[in-house]
Amino acid sequence: MNADLGARLTEIDARIADAARSAGRDPASISRIVVTKFHPPELVAALYALGVRDVGENRQQEFSEKSLALAHLSDLRWHFVGQAQTNKARAIRSTAAMVHSVDRAKLANAFDSAAEPGSSTLDVLLQVNLTSDTGRGGVAPEDLLALAEHVAAKDSLRVRGVMAVAPLEEQPARAFERLRGCADIVRSVVPDAEWISAGMSADFAEAIAMGATHLRIGSAITGPRPQHG
Ligand SMILES: *Cc1c(COP(=O)(O)O)cnc(C)c1O
Repeated sequence: MNADLGARLTEIDARIADAARSAGRDPASISRIVVTKFHPPELVAALYALGVRDVGENRQQEFSEKSLALAHLSDLRWHFVGQAQTNKARAIRSTAAMVHSVDRAKLANAFDSAAEPGSSTLDVLLQVNLTSDTGRGGVAPEDLLALAEHVAAKDSLRVRGVMAVAPLEEQPARAFERLRGCADIVRSVVPDAEWISAGMSADFAEAIAMGATHLRIGSAITGPRPQHG
């Protein structure tokens, strides 16, 4: 298994570097986060042995359990990329290097309240909903400015930029173009919030062309996800 995993990781990293060069960008300016949801801690440990230091999870319980099981890998950075409930903010904050999915004021308040005295600030991205389905995760683009102002006022949170998932029913390049406009809105509030988390297994090349700084790649590296209930 590890030979295949290593081969896929090498191949995806080569494709990331190619896409970056085609876009006139330095591959070193792009962070590749491996999304390991539904896979066991052993797979994360195997990725670590291959040099991976950034991994992502989308459910709090799995995030907490896996990071605890792998706490000895102390320089592994855990990214939270999923929908979060306010009552899970404390558990997420205690482990996360970065939260990609802050999409409402209440959730930002919960992450802010969860700060331990003297703890460092938490890097957060504001997740934008690029679909017309309001049930999806992410703030509506028209509400992004107000959210950015709200989160920027929280001392224990540092707004670093935006995050989005490309809608299934649209060309990713077009959706990412709108995300770039959203990134500009956030920078009008927080000028150094330059990060854009976009690009998954199927669309990371388009995301790189648009200016993504953080890619969240799962199955193209990990292989198919195990069945889950
Ligand atoms: C699962 C997931 C990914 C990775 O998806 P792949 O298609 O497997 O690359 C990226 N971002 C989020 C928010 C996810 O939930």
